[in-house]
Amino acid sequence: MEKTINESEQGTALEVRGREANPRKLYIESYGCQMNFSDSEIVASILGQEGFNTTQRLEEADLILVNTCSIREKAEQTVRKRLVHFNALKKNNPGVKVGVLGCMAERLKSQFLEEEKIVDMVVGPDAYKDLPNLIREVDGGQNAVNVILSKEETYGDVSPVRLGTNGVTAFVSITRGCDNMCTFCVVPFTRGRERSRDPQSILGEIGDLWEQGYREVTLLGQNVDSYLWYGGGLKKDFDKASPMQQATAVNFAGLLEMAATAHPRMRFRFSTSNPQDMTLDVIETMARFDNICNYIHLPVQSGSDRILKAMNRLHTRAEYFELIDNIRRLIPDCGISQDMIAGFPTETEEDHQQTLSLMDYVKYDFGFMFAYSERPGTLAARKLADDVPEEVKKRRLREIIGKQQEHSLERNRQHIGRVEEVLIEGPSRKSDAQWMGRNTQNTVVVFPKEHYRVGEFVNVRIEDCTSATLLGTATGYSKK
Ligand code: SAM
Repeated sequence: MEKTINESEQGTALEVRGREANPRKLYIESYGCQMNFSDSEIVASILGQEGFNTTQRLEEADLILVNTCSIREKAEQTVRKRLVHFNALKKNNPGVKVGVLGCMAERLKSQFLEEEKIVDMVVGPDAYKDLPNLIREVDGGQNAVNVILSKEETYGDVSPVRLGTNGVTAFVSITRGCDNMCTFCVVPFTRGRERSRDPQSILGEIGDLWEQGYREVTLLGQNVDSYLWYGGGLKKDFDKASPMQQATAVNFAGLLEMAATAHPRMRFRFSTSNPQDMTLDVIETMARFDNICNYIHLPVQSGSDRILKAMNRLHTRAEYFELIDNIRRLIPDCGISQDMIAGFPTETEEDHQQTLSLMDYVKYDFGFMFAYSERPGTLAARKLADDVPEEVKKRRLREIIGKQQEHSLERNRQHIGRVEEVLIEGPSRKSDAQWMGRNTQNTVVVFPKEHYRVGEFVNVRIEDCTSATLLGTATGYSKK
């Protein structure tokens, strides 16, 4: 998402070289999905203008910010422990201020500020432009809070500061919020209604990235296929737009085409796709452009029609198969990955078997799999008892993960003997003598460095694999 949740990145504090004149230091730690990591880059940009440079050293920070995730209870617990730790640092450094950003802000603002008193500032995902004012309030000795969700804010006019970057791949946000109201999901409550960003500002950001040497962009949103630009405003208000606005609106297929045409040598991915919103024209556009990667992250969550309905996923198992068949027909070598939830309320053994059999049909390249975690305020929490026992959830999750590992290995083996284009992202984690990059299907490829360099597109002959990685040898530069 793209890994939806990249475990190795969770909680990393990121730093970039800032302006020399900036007198104060910001330590920012991020949790959760890529959207949050991307938002931290917007925050760093806004605060860069306010006299803050980023640091990875907690002890020199004047301001500590934690960009939080509410998606599962475990994510919230991890953040809470970090906040207690940061608060304790104030004993040695009373001047340091601590702030909570992101998805936990709205839900837990009074608890953090008034009851537990472990933070000085709480800022929701649509209020980052208010940070300069909020910091002034905190500097003046008060607590500060702004968790108002916006109908318009897309941060389209903020040029993100790339944090912890490899200088090759970057994420560009195209939508904010989500209107889907899946019954398990807290996102519509923490991030608000769905709005799309002006395509011209998206293209501008991609152009800047190209100039800086970036070679791959992932267009990012909770539900990218639902992208709709008609001059600004909420997706749900499209009906009220003028006939001219409606006639000139840009949908996701249109945006993809604009990006791929304007930057023919940049490689594009996107995430996340909700099956109910993914249309044939998106798949056709992918098939038409060489520089749009053959990879779709297509969470399904469950293989049972009954559970899909209870989750308010607005498609059936048969419709999902039809979508998969269309993808395979138009893009035969397309990589497909999933998100899956084990143990949603009322899930029976038969429902679980349906999930396993759906996986057998699709044979995903990889996936992100979770045990159901009840989130306060969601429709499922209000209407359905969390009635699948914890050990049953865990066992079902193990079975789903086991099946995915088998399928990943089977899919990866199909690459052996092929020569595939790989964009080099950096050294392999296991050996400094090897490069790591990704093929079009988003599978990691590792190969000896030789004379190749980061940011180059090379052809790699795939010789071996594990369930997670392809191993090979470069045969030369690709035509790019
Ligand atoms: N917007 C995407 C979609 O609708 O498919 C993904 C959003 S979410 C950030 C990433 C994944 O977290 C979801 O696809 C789902 O599998 C998982 N997730 C969300 N809420 C959850 C919950 N309450 N318990 C367990 N997993 C959850």
